[in-house]
Amino acid sequence: MLRTYNPISHPISSLHTMLKELVINVWCKASNINNCIALLSPNFIIIYNQYGWLSDEVDNVYESCKTLSKRERKKIIKAFIINNQIEVLCNGLLLPVELAKLPGVVENEMKPLLENFYKRLLDLGFVPGSKLGYYNDLIKFNNYNTCPVCGLANIETPDSKYIEDYDHFFPKAHYPFAAVNFKNLVPTCDKCNKKHKGSNKPLDYNGKAYFPFEAGRLPIEVTLKLNKIEYDGDEKLVENPSFSYTGDTEKNKTWNWLYNIDERYSAEIKRFSYSWLRRLKQEVAFNPDKTIEDHIDFNIANFKCDEFDELKFLKIALLKELKTKQEWMAVYH
Ligand SMILES: [Zn+2]
Repeated sequence: MLRTYNPISHPISSLHTMLKELVINVWCKASNINNCIALLSPNFIIIYNQYGWLSDEVDNVYESCKTLSKRERKKIIKAFIINNQIEVLCNGLLLPVELAKLPGVVENEMKPLLENFYKRLLDLGFVPGSKLGYYNDLIKFNNYNTCPVCGLANIETPDSKYIEDYDHFFPKAHYPFAAVNFKNLVPTCDKCNKKHKGSNKPLDYNGKAYFPFEAGRLPIEVTLKLNKIEYDGDEKLVENPSFSYTGDTEKNKTWNWLYNIDERYSAEIKRFSYSWLRRLKQEVAFNPDKTIEDHIDFNIANFKCDEFDELKFLKIALLKELKTKQEWMAVYH
């Protein structure tokens, strides 16, 4: 990720706490002696009593869990705890537990209900917080205008009544225990979420990934290399630029693999570099007292102020490369 989110505390995270209590203290203690409703936490009972579909499903899973062995219950509890340590998993310090390793009740009965915790329950009146409210608070706190994963697309502002979709970084289809864990729910642009990442599992490339809510992490700096500057009839760059990134090499590989970053940055440079450099040439012509280098330095410093708006981080990368090869300005007639 180009940038990570600084996390916020928000009432919406209490649903995950309730889910944890449901799995560990209710379903994993199911027996003919205990009674489902008697084991539910007081906060969850309010929600449980409100929605018939929910109480039916919770009861059904409870019934199925009665036959689980002690060992199977331990496995489920362990998987719940491990699969929600998103930061530890991202750093490759633990492996997530896959559904195939767990008793069938998890995939067949818990998973559909836990997915509905996200799809149906989160925005209902008796559940604390809402996806819109949390999104607005998170974006406002981070002051982000663009998708932190790619930096290419504008995202909904905190004033908008719409939100960007949440990407389940560890997909809920594979890791349903993290379905409403807001350390695993990352607002990203549509292209990053649906077109590029889809349901790919973030550790499948090399076992490491950026934790999307790593507080205070420095943004990645992009460096661009080009061998020549040459345009076709449509003023599109002919050569593919190559990119390098600051940050963690292994995590950068995963970022690139999940979201096709090199390819997408290359497309933007090819699309816009002619227009960006034409503008620079006009600035130089307008104020010939300054050298090209002065103009480039001014633009870099100026763009740096809000480098993640309007693709400025890519403009900066192009200008820095241009600084070493000013003869490229001659391609404009
Ligand atoms: Zn994006």
